[in-house]
Amino acid sequence: MTTVTRFAPSPTGRLHLGHAYAALFAFDAARQDGGRFLLRIEDIDATRCRPDHEAAILDDLAWLGLEWERPVRRQSEHLDDYAQALRRLESLAVLYPCFCTRKDIAAEIARAGAAPHGPDGPLYPGICRRLPREEAAARVAAGEAFATRLDTAKAATLAGPLHWTDRAAGRIAADPASLGDVVLARKETPTSYHLAVTLDDHLQGVTLVTRGQDLFHATHIHRLLQALLGLDVPTWHHHPLVRGEDGQRLAKSAGAPSLRALRDGGATAAEVRRRVGLESTDG
Ligand code: GLU
Repeated sequence: MTTVTRFAPSPTGRLHLGHAYAALFAFDAARQDGGRFLLRIEDIDATRCRPDHEAAILDDLAWLGLEWERPVRRQSEHLDDYAQALRRLESLAVLYPCFCTRKDIAAEIARAGAAPHGPDGPLYPGICRRLPREEAAARVAAGEAFATRLDTAKAATLAGPLHWTDRAAGRIAADPASLGDVVLARKETPTSYHLAVTLDDHLQGVTLVTRGQDLFHATHIHRLLQALLGLDVPTWHHHPLVRGEDGQRLAKSAGAPSLRALRDGGATAAEVRRRVGLESTDG
């Protein structure tokens, strides 16, 4: 089977060395296997994504020496695909509308005195999962804003035990409950990172998903969505994150220079490779 990898940036800002590492890692993985490398623009968040950032990303990637297939898949152009997947999940009765504001969720967690924690903080405490169906349907019909959540426990029971393979970490038992009832769509964005990325990797024939270790936990949910939607199951390789001199991952590090700034300062693509610890490809 031909290895197909991808780099999937969100055009919300400039690329830094961490992105360069992730992009080169995916590109090298495809090339080592004589495979294909794809680029996908993850621009579902219309409030944060900008065409000028996308243009700058393409420019930086070309400068790094990457070549990718065209056309580039832009998630904002495929909202129908995500809506269709959502309908399929709806038909399995594993979704529910959630009317909670952040404030409602915080108040419920404070009231309960404790909340199970996931990788990104406290898990959603299930308030709207417990709403009577008729009440939820009436609130939707009345036009109240809602997000669509996955009833993860119910979905996991339906799917049965699942595993996935990470090239670095080996065989992993999927533990979607560790992320709780994730949001799969919102009113203003009719999909979410989890849904879009999982469907796109399938539709684009991606066989090896490479990305940073910060997204390792997300894979538990992605594996579950694949099972529910009958999607192909790739192999994953979650790689270490590039850290700044302050030890912070670059996205959070105050001093992370953009690739553009490094270029303007005279850096070469080969130097960027070396700085992120990748072998040179010159010979
Ligand atoms: N778009 C995601 C990001 O910018 C990466 C998605 C993925 O690799 O799964 O972090």
